[in-house]
Amino acid sequence: MSDRRALLRHLPAIDRLLSSPQLSRLEQTLPHILVREAAQKVVDELRRELLDERAPLPDLAFDAVVERAAARAAEMARPSLRRVVNVTGTLLHTNLGRAPLCAEALQAITEVAQGYSNLEYDLEAGQRGKRYTHVEELICRLTGGEAATVVNNNAGAVMLALAALAGSRNALVSRGELIEIGGSFRIPDIMAASGVELVEVGTTNKTHLKDYAGAIDSGTSLILKVHTSNYRILGFTEAVSGEELAGLAHQHGIPVLEDLGSGLLIDLTPHGLPREPTVREALQTGIDLVTFSGDKLLGGPQAGIIVGKRTVIDQLRKHPMARALRIDKLTLAALEATLRLYLDPNRALAQVPTLKMLALPIAELQQRCENLLTRLSEALGDAVACSIVDSTATVGGGALPLAELPGRAIALVPVKLSVNELANRLRRSEPPVLGRIQDDRFLVDPRTLNHEDQELLLQALQQVFNH
Ligand SMILES: *Cc1c(COP(=O)(O)O)cnc(C)c1O
Repeated sequence: MSDRRALLRHLPAIDRLLSSPQLSRLEQTLPHILVREAAQKVVDELRRELLDERAPLPDLAFDAVVERAAARAAEMARPSLRRVVNVTGTLLHTNLGRAPLCAEALQAITEVAQGYSNLEYDLEAGQRGKRYTHVEELICRLTGGEAATVVNNNAGAVMLALAALAGSRNALVSRGELIEIGGSFRIPDIMAASGVELVEVGTTNKTHLKDYAGAIDSGTSLILKVHTSNYRILGFTEAVSGEELAGLAHQHGIPVLEDLGSGLLIDLTPHGLPREPTVREALQTGIDLVTFSGDKLLGGPQAGIIVGKRTVIDQLRKHPMARALRIDKLTLAALEATLRLYLDPNRALAQVPTLKMLALPIAELQQRCENLLTRLSEALGDAVACSIVDSTATVGGGALPLAELPGRAIALVPVKLSVNELANRLRRSEPPVLGRIQDDRFLVDPRTLNHEDQELLLQALQQVFNH
């Protein structure tokens, strides 16, 4: 102990570290307070390591300490929100930002963000306008709705609709549809927060029209139908169709609202995906209002899209919560650009990254794996065993829970590292790479890798194995 304690006086003074050529140079690009704090942190750490007998003896050479402080400063200066490479095979990974945007959306964001825009200005009339007019007509055209509006996200859309239409009265929901999505979106909680009394009808697996009919009373303001986005109830089940619900609700003079979750604009069954009702089909049943996300299968920015009957949409717009949940201009720019692609479904399939990734044929995935494999072997030699394996991608993001997208992946088995250690190092590389471990192998699913991501992946792997 005393030996280690004696080394404490070799710890360099902060000012001496800061006047080293390397840290002085760093201060030309990084803020002074960051560099100073980094030096301070490193010296504090070294002191702790010296005093901890179980810790390996740290390198106290002046240059080594400078090096460590420089690395720490660079780390502290790095943005917190960063690009990552996703090889998990989950397309709409909520933790990884859901849908990547199309080039058209990125361009629209840049144009609108770098200067002023007609966000709330009617250029024809020369007077104040409304921000949602930029997408309303497009949404109506793509879904057959009479009117539309947009808010910050789908959770907000549901809350706004409930608050504006139900007030402090009650709303009916089937017990089979009392969902939780992503931990914090829970229908009972959302209803409570909107000031609406939840009336549960039916049972977990079966709800009949007569259950709804029996529950309607003078305090009932609406029927809420919720898409069971992230699970399925299998076996003996029964749910009431949109047509039947709309028929019943309209007899009582109340609306039906459907939270569709993902909100498909085009049928994806030709691409091997399970049948899901499109927004247009949901509205055709007579349902008054449909809400869905912008950043799930639609493949756009985070947004909550609300479409349906004009009288109902007007009620929502007037509610104070509409202002609190309003969509921002960058999102609006990206949303409009993405929706415009859908005017020609083939263009949407070719340009919207989420749709492109969903529709990738196995032959293309095999080809990507083969190309990657060749380059991996060149770059990494025999540090890692690589092979092509069958693999299944999932949609994620609370969309199409049972859809399995058959494909191929590269399985990596490092020779000198454990698979967990490989995953840890890739997660901390620059840029970070996130993948999945299966059967003691690290899987690289090429479905979610664009061309640039492939280069970044190779760089990251080289960093891990050649150091
Ligand atoms: C995803 C989802 C939500 C939440 O949507 P966000 O856009 O994430 O707020 C709400 N309801 C359903 C059915 C969903 O699938």
